Amino acid sequence: MDKDKISKEVEERFKKLQEKKVKGGKRSKTVHASHITGECVRRPWYDFRETPEPLTYDSICNFWAGTILHENAPLGGRNEVPLSANIKTMQPIGKKDINDYNLFDCITGTADDILEFEGDIVIADKKTFSTLSQRGMKKPPPTEPDKGYVAQLNIYKLLLYICEGVEAKYGTIIYLNKATSFKDPICFTFELQSVDEIRSWVLTKLGKLRQLVEPERVITKYCNYCPHKKVCAPPQALIPKWSS
Ligand code: SF4
Repeated sequence: MDKDKISKEVEERFKKLQEKKVKGGKRSKTVHASHITGECVRRPWYDFRETPEPLTYDSICNFWAGTILHENAPLGGRNEVPLSANIKTMQPIGKKDINDYNLFDCITGTADDILEFEGDIVIADKKTFSTLSQRGMKKPPPTEPDKGYVAQLNIYKLLLYICEGVEAKYGTIIYLNKATSFKDPICFTFELQSVDEIRSWVLTKLGKLRQLVEPERVITKYCNYCPHKKVCAPPQALIPKWSS
């Protein structure tokens, strides 16, 4: 066989393997914690009503790298802990019991790591970033945790409390730099909100997902990567340039 053909075939096999691991293009079946942590609620509102644009190859590679990382980086304690609960009734619920009637009462999620330090329960999450832009320009590392990621850990606290009666005290986010092959991780630790505060915030977001008309647009740099950009059609001139 031709050497070029062999190379091409091996490259294609690798790409297919990445694609197989990261399946996209379907409507969401349950509300995942990450659905309600972004600034724009219209985006997850569409997730339950529209078929998203297919993932780009760049996104597939990003998701794939993240999946491989998560599967291979347990931080001790309990790892990849699935959690799902009905927030309205404050009862645990299996994913299979979430249906059209209770869809917008329930949240699902998977906590990366649940750790214990001197009797305090800590929920940890791994996030990747890059100090190099796609054009090879240098970017500064994060100096504080992203608000959406902090919200995500608060939701995991609520789910853990409902599912197991355990009240986590801290959240910690470990940022891993793809540009340096994850050298020198940066970690931010913070106190989590009270169960009542988190529940009230989550119920407000679920209410917006349930409404019959689409929520207002919140136009940010993330619109550039929104899988519903076409149907939402935000004015292009209002979308900020991606600078960080
Ligand atoms: S394009 Fe922007 S405003 Fe529209 S749904 Fe997506 S994130 Fe929201």
